Amino acid sequence: MIPKASYDVIVIGAGPAGSTAAMYAAENGASVLLLDKKREIGSPIQCAGFLPDASEVQALLPNAELPDSLKNYPDSCVLQYIKTQRIIPPNCIVKEFAVRGAVLDRRRYDQFLAEQAAKAGAELMIKTRVTKVEGTTVETSGVFGKHTIKGKAIIGADGPNSLVARTKGLTFKPGEREVSVALEYQVRNVDIDPEALEMYFGNDFVPGGYAWIFPEGEDRANVGVGIRSGMAEKGVSAKEYLNRFMREHPLASQKLKNRIIMNVIAGILPVNGAPKRTATGDSLIVGDAAGQIIATNGGGIPPAMIAGKVAGETAAEFAAGKCRLEEYDRLWRAQIGNAIETSVQARQLMDGIMKSNTLMNAAFKLISPEQMKVMQCGKLPLPVKIGLQAMSLGKK
Ligand SMILES: Cc1cc2nc3c(=O)[nH]c(=O)nc-3n(C[C@H](O)[C@H](O)[C@H](O)COP(=O)(O)OP(=O)(O)OC[C@H]3O[C@@H](n4cnc5c(N)ncnc54)[C@H](O)[C@@H]3O)c2cc1C
Repeated sequence: MIPKASYDVIVIGAGPAGSTAAMYAAENGASVLLLDKKREIGSPIQCAGFLPDASEVQALLPNAELPDSLKNYPDSCVLQYIKTQRIIPPNCIVKEFAVRGAVLDRRRYDQFLAEQAAKAGAELMIKTRVTKVEGTTVETSGVFGKHTIKGKAIIGADGPNSLVARTKGLTFKPGEREVSVALEYQVRNVDIDPEALEMYFGNDFVPGGYAWIFPEGEDRANVGVGIRSGMAEKGVSAKEYLNRFMREHPLASQKLKNRIIMNVIAGILPVNGAPKRTATGDSLIVGDAAGQIIATNGGGIPPAMIAGKVAGETAAEFAAGKCRLEEYDRLWRAQIGNAIETSVQARQLMDGIMKSNTLMNAAFKLISPEQMKVMQCGKLPLPVKIGLQAMSLGKK
């Protein structure tokens, strides 16, 4: 493929944020180029793939306008439908609540989203890395050669280490950004409940984070840990924590004892929300690039796509001379900004408690399953907030 010399909108990154943005920009009349450095869209996977049903997402983010591809996607993208979520505190007194959703095959889902963008008119260039962004000109290098391409607007949907965010100064101050380091295995031959997501807490296995077992079929699962390096024991890696969890956790080790590891997946998640600004006069950032993640559960697919829709629509309007690109910042925050900020506050409160298994057990006893559900999806019920504050103060 040979790209044109210029486009209305250049989207860097064909993950959920970028493909959604490209689709809505194209649908709204813009000429769009969608670029990704991956040789195959969605591969390698860097996700556990849980996506709640649209009704669950809408209930938790009532102001959000959900893109259609978050509501309707082919069954072939689904590895396993989910009905229950279990929370397992350090003392292993399990709490559970109903949740509707699916564990997706992210490779297939990302390809479905990129296909939707291309069908709407976006030009898709795979295995093409953006090496430089200068103003609204990008330099690319990859399987289709080296190119210099101009856009009216640049959309940085290029993940947690975003080049666009760095180039445009849309970042946190040095030292202020916090990330969770995640490592997961896709395993087979495990004895799990295929309709239940499980999240395990406890300092011995996952300091400052949680471990999970997400079913990918009857006897298949994605097993992982997300830890915060500042809270981990010195010199102990995520891999060691994950292996220890699978080998030694009193409940999980039973389910996983005959595991066969098929794949290893690593990645990082930004966990302190969005930087102050997410747009300039000619560029914007979206998805992980903009820290649009629910910090309490690492859920990034719905916010990335909701903000992706806003990004695409705003960029198309901007290219047609109808609005300023900075409008994007206000528009996405009006839909999901509150939930992201509250999830960061909840995560910070939990950080204090996660330093001690005793406090964690007490906190999980205090919080009802319903409160747990809304909390880990980005809300902080007042009684929980007060209880957690009292506990973390008591500790000091
Ligand atoms: C281990 C792990 C497990 C997770 N589990 C879940 C989960 O179960 N549910 C959930 O909702 N969220 C989960 N997340 C978070 C979720 O994966 C992300 O929030 C989501 O993928 C964000 O989408 P995105 O489009 O912003 O970024 P990405 O999906 O990261 O896409 C960014 C794209 O940009 C491309 N790119 C980057 N730089 C360049 C460049 N210079 N040139 C060209 N292309 C470039 C990359 O190749 C990539 O395809 C998990 C994350 C991790 C790390």
